[in-house]
Amino acid sequence: MIALADMIPVRPVRIGDNPGLAWAEGLTLSLPRPFLEASGLAAGLDSRGDLRLPDGLALPEAAAAAASVRECRAFPGERPVSSRLPFSYHVLPAVVRQFVAKAMGRRLRGRQGHWARFPLWPLDLGADFLADLAGPDASARPAGPTPVVLSHDLDSAEGLANVVELFLPLEEAHGARSMNFVVPKAWPLDEGLLGEIAARGHGLGIHGHDHGNTTWLLDGPARRHRLEQSRDLARRHGMAGYRAPSLLRSRELLRDVAACYRFDSSIPTSGGPFPVPNNGCATARPFALEGLLEIPLSLPRDGSLLFLGHAPGEILALWQATAAAIARSGGVVVLLTHCEKRFSGNAPMLAAYTAFLDHLATSGTYRFVRMDALADCANGPHPA
Ligand SMILES: [Zn+2]
Repeated sequence: MIALADMIPVRPVRIGDNPGLAWAEGLTLSLPRPFLEASGLAAGLDSRGDLRLPDGLALPEAAAAAASVRECRAFPGERPVSSRLPFSYHVLPAVVRQFVAKAMGRRLRGRQGHWARFPLWPLDLGADFLADLAGPDASARPAGPTPVVLSHDLDSAEGLANVVELFLPLEEAHGARSMNFVVPKAWPLDEGLLGEIAARGHGLGIHGHDHGNTTWLLDGPARRHRLEQSRDLARRHGMAGYRAPSLLRSRELLRDVAACYRFDSSIPTSGGPFPVPNNGCATARPFALEGLLEIPLSLPRDGSLLFLGHAPGEILALWQATAAAIARSGGVVVLLTHCEKRFSGNAPMLAAYTAFLDHLATSGTYRFVRMDALADCANGPHPA
């Protein structure tokens, strides 16, 4: 198994006679040093990290390396601060949570070398590079425009009200439909609004249990009991997908989720500093994991970017540049925004979101796809 310390940043500057890797030329991504050495590719690596590939490469073993890279930091392992509190951190007033997060973000912004050693921030496609290195058949690239999946985590009644009032009309005006993950047991759910979201053609999914950030730490029976408590809600609203609160996931949690849902979207491509440093799967392509289709969150999330102190204009530019790199690589663009005012439910962030939707709708490079439709099309395992 590949360890975090094995991952090194490299920049392919010559891809040889391998057109399937042209997307990676000039892009910095992480590869495992043991693989580079065992495959002989290290001979083309210079002291600056520039990598030159020879012609005539045949490296089928790169497929196994791709899987190892995807799972190297897919599960955080260690507990973030919010999971160590002796109470649900959601009982803290929102303003206190926001203050704590901003203070952490300010401190962290200058320490990217600590929290983005791997995956690199804001994007790391190391696993996809290895998959394509293994050969054109090792990873199916979608034909036509790049799929774009919009998603929201509705962490509060305010978020649910705001998505209906502020976000859905914007998305519908651009011909897009979003996936909306709701917290089943934290606040009284307005099922009338859930019905409206579905009636307007948008998707609904389950966002954990009570957003206390502890489900992934429970023992098996307690964890499964929690998942079971949301089954009726999920069935009533046709919810086929799951997203873990604060993206706190474990292999064991995903195995249990697989018994209830068809897909999961809890693993970021590059997680940034949250929920823990150096977390993510370094791929922007959906993949099979623990009996589920995993749809990685491939764009940096609104919360992380705001915590790090980025202005809405910078966030827009970052989303556009990251989406362009993902499109070139044959991945899927997946965006998470939160609809509360303190996240994206405010005028400056809604303006950035609108501009991003304009860009996606008019560039000719992208097409909007609902997350569950993407899961239906993907070649992943689909438990009934
Ligand atoms: Zn959430």
